Amino acid sequence: MTRSSVLELLQSDKFLQEVAVKGWVRTFRSNRFIALNDGSTINNIQCVVDFENTDEALLKRIATGAAVSIKGTLVESQGKGQKVEIQVTDLEILGDSNPDEYPIQPKKHSLEFLRENAHLRIRTNTFSAVMRVRSKLSYAVHRYFQDNGFNYVNTPIITGSDAEGAGEMFGVSAFEANKAPLNEAGEVDYKQDFFGKQTNLTVSGQLEAETYAMALGKVYTFGPTFRAENSNTTRHLAEFWMIEPEVAFMDLDGNMDLSEDFIKYVLGYVLEHCKDDLAFLDNRLTQEEKSKPQAQRSEMSLLEKIKFVVENNFKRVSYTEAIDILRNSKPNKKKKFQFPINEWGADLQSEHERYLVEKHFKCPVILFDYPANIKAFYMRLNEDGKTVRAMDVLFPGIGEIVGGAQREERLDVLKEKMAALDIDEQELWWYLDTRKFGTAVHSGFGLGFERLVQFATGMGNIRDVIPFPRTPQNAEF
Ligand code: ATP
Ligand code: MN
Repeated sequence: MTRSSVLELLQSDKFLQEVAVKGWVRTFRSNRFIALNDGSTINNIQCVVDFENTDEALLKRIATGAAVSIKGTLVESQGKGQKVEIQVTDLEILGDSNPDEYPIQPKKHSLEFLRENAHLRIRTNTFSAVMRVRSKLSYAVHRYFQDNGFNYVNTPIITGSDAEGAGEMFGVSAFEANKAPLNEAGEVDYKQDFFGKQTNLTVSGQLEAETYAMALGKVYTFGPTFRAENSNTTRHLAEFWMIEPEVAFMDLDGNMDLSEDFIKYVLGYVLEHCKDDLAFLDNRLTQEEKSKPQAQRSEMSLLEKIKFVVENNFKRVSYTEAIDILRNSKPNKKKKFQFPINEWGADLQSEHERYLVEKHFKCPVILFDYPANIKAFYMRLNEDGKTVRAMDVLFPGIGEIVGGAQREERLDVLKEKMAALDIDEQELWWYLDTRKFGTAVHSGFGLGFERLVQFATGMGNIRDVIPFPRTPQNAEF
């Protein structure tokens, strides 16, 4: 008999037929009812054991967490809450689970406790729902780009350029610690290291992706990135996945359109394809919100928030307009911001981004044309000489989800900028070549995949949307 998934059985109406299923016991109650889950859906199938004719020793082994193989008859369910159930005729324990030791009991565990058991937390409803949504989202990412003529590029994870400029880097070396050879100046002599130079884990694939956009036209990366920033926030990981499209002949307006269209597509995709998981997560978030004081509660449920983003235009606002709004805002006047906004040129902190999105505009916001000196060297200088064609997409509850720009395509302007920032031209000779040979207007952005998953699942902490989070002082598993 071929084995069915729980999902298939729950959707089937093949009553009175023999079926086979394998999975893990979620609960076993009254010595009779097994709630069985196999990961194919958030829903369990109820398997009814004929306990009077079942060996007592076997009944004892039907414990939460045990792996079982079940054969039986699919019948219409008598009980509430499910359409079908299995009348068990044959039950085999594939793998026992000692209830006294198994950490994932059928009760509510704190997210902190589950983080310490990241190898088992996937067996809970919350984490299986989050990770199924994550999987579907990444499929939607590829679908969007592939359907729109983009080529998937794998940029290097070990990088030889330390000019990516997006954050603190992790060094990569084959030297044994303490035994690295020193040069005459007493510094580590990387010439003798594996690559003959100092190398790091990448913080962004953008610079390499730009070279590919200059031939393939439309490209995107989707891979791991690393930042050794010691920021213990709910939105930062040391290892995270980034999506970076880069498009030739596209200006900043096109870039804003692309980011908005892309985000709406992938969120729309999960709305359609993750209904059960999102319904569960929607309810989970609503329960969580109830424990907060009224004033801090969100006005919208998770599903409402996602639909709102999919159905409404993102508000596009220049940095200069945003500064005016912030300067005249209530929290600024009442000195409620930790970093008060006094003048044009200030870097925006997450408190400011969230004020704009959550309080002022109440919708996703795309901020553009930032001061040149708070943004990276490769962003295109505007005619005013003081702002660059940068854009950040800001999301409710998340803050920055996308950072992007139209790139500086003019060789002389780019070189001037690099000189001013003390960036070695030799180091980026290959990047400058793209401006020497057939340079063209081009733009792109980076979207942190986990922040997107956070938004789609309503999880407050980024550590709960990646299987095994890497954060300061934490690389277990
Ligand atoms: P932030 O200001 O939030 O630290 P950033 O300005 O460093 O972000 P970028 O360098 O523009 O971010 O990176 C592009 C995107 O990657 C960001 O918009 C964000 O979605 C994501 N991102 C950046 N740093 C992290 C991190 N440490 N963990 C998870 N995602 C990140
Ligand atoms: Mn930022």
